[in-house]
Amino acid sequence: MSTATTEKLARIFDGPYYLSIAGKLVEAKYSFDVFNPATGEILAKAPAASPAQLDEAIAAAKTAFKSWSTLGYDERETYLNAYADALEKSRDELARLLTAEQGKPLKTGAEPEIDQSISYIRQIAARRVPIEIVEETDTHCVELHHPPLGVVGAITPWNFPVVLALWKVAPALITGNTIVIKPSPFTPLSTLRFGEIAQGVLPPGVLSVVSGGNELGTQMTAHPDLAKISFTGSTATGKEVIRSTADTVKRLTLEMGGNDAAIVLPDADWKSIIPQLFWGAVGNSGQWCVGIKRLYVHRSVHEEFVAAFVDYAKQQKMGDGLDPDVTIGPVQNKMQFEKVKTLLDDIKANGQKIALGGEIDERRPGYFIPVTVIDNPPEAARIVQEEQFAPIVPIVMYDDVEDAIGRANDTPFGLGGSVWGRDTRAAVAVANRLETGMVWVNEIHTQGVDIPFGGHKQSGLGTEHGREGRLLFTNAKTVLVHK
Ligand code: NAD
Repeated sequence: MSTATTEKLARIFDGPYYLSIAGKLVEAKYSFDVFNPATGEILAKAPAASPAQLDEAIAAAKTAFKSWSTLGYDERETYLNAYADALEKSRDELARLLTAEQGKPLKTGAEPEIDQSISYIRQIAARRVPIEIVEETDTHCVELHHPPLGVVGAITPWNFPVVLALWKVAPALITGNTIVIKPSPFTPLSTLRFGEIAQGVLPPGVLSVVSGGNELGTQMTAHPDLAKISFTGSTATGKEVIRSTADTVKRLTLEMGGNDAAIVLPDADWKSIIPQLFWGAVGNSGQWCVGIKRLYVHRSVHEEFVAAFVDYAKQQKMGDGLDPDVTIGPVQNKMQFEKVKTLLDDIKANGQKIALGGEIDERRPGYFIPVTVIDNPPEAARIVQEEQFAPIVPIVMYDDVEDAIGRANDTPFGLGGSVWGRDTRAAVAVANRLETGMVWVNEIHTQGVDIPFGGHKQSGLGTEHGREGRLLFTNAKTVLVHK
């Protein structure tokens, strides 16, 4: 990299970063450090919004709601498209910043995430939630209207910090709400930049971004002037959000943790699907809510399958996501790194068979967990039961498909799952029995603005995307008229 490029990048990364409140870029009295997970070094300082600044952002959003909600869909569409255009101009910088703070590879992780976010805004901008006629006679008419809720609070995690924020921003705004976003304290920078860019395009108060610690999230969930919390994060935090929002009866969408199973059926063309399964599990360094967290493979091919999976894994390069040859980055933060180490300790202490990886190079800076493959751990093992959120893949053997289905469902989680087999009809029959919000058959992780996404059981409440998701940013209002 040339010196000029390095200096330019340093300027992009160093900041300064601002809160976006009431249409203005605002400094905070305090700041906190944001680390580059590839080096373990401080990347930049982010502003820590005070409780008063959060109040200010919510008050401005409440004021802005009055005019934003009365604009028509078409005008809001124009604004959202202008926002997408403005983001497009900073696309490369945003992608580099995302890699620097999150760790994901630039070409295969950060650039697609920024592109998908911008495209998501444009696609949602064209969507509508129209009034429905429920009943009509000569003398009587019943209409179902879908007015916006008011001010939405968005609380987001660190694994896909940008796209997960935009999954909330775009549907909230097109349906007429205003929004205040609180990004994860581990990855606030790219969301703060998204906020800064919005201030040049959207009316003041329509979209604000406040960064800070978890306590800012608690303040949001209890805030009387937020009508809804749209939360993505862990199940443990989601339960706290439910408790804290009870007093103000907020609307809630919760996208939480998962322990997705992939079932490879005996007739699967398993050799050809190794890359899909590998990236389904290890993409984003395994830090994916709908990542494959357990792979169930039939006894007849298990041994060969593990060997082929390991071979594929060996072809990958782990390192700093800004290096164009790198396909797997670090895990995102030290807390996660330490948590994953306890999982590896548990695997070793229980004598589970490690087919690949397992050893962390403690001298290497950054938070690198090598791709690790566990060969047929017992069903009760932590690595099978828990959400690892790391590039560690348990490949579990099964004899009987019924048994595999039972094991896949025997979890408090119910986010996603996948089934793989040559006989599509048989694979779909298995898929239909998985107790999850999404199930993919012979494909994985296909998503889209019109494809509902959400978890069953303790993985979620409500849905994102699709008509169902957009409706959750509105109230149902029944208007009954005697003609
Ligand atoms: P987390 O729950 O620790 O944090 C998520 C957000 O909640 C952060 O912004 C955090 O500051 C905030 N927060 C923390 N405590 C809070 C509180 N008491 N009240 C309000 N807000 C609070 O989650 P994480 O570690 O950032 O993200 C990883 C988790 O997110 C994993 O479990 C993953 O499966 C899940 N996730 C789910 C989806 C999905 O769509 N279902 C998508 C991505 C990630």
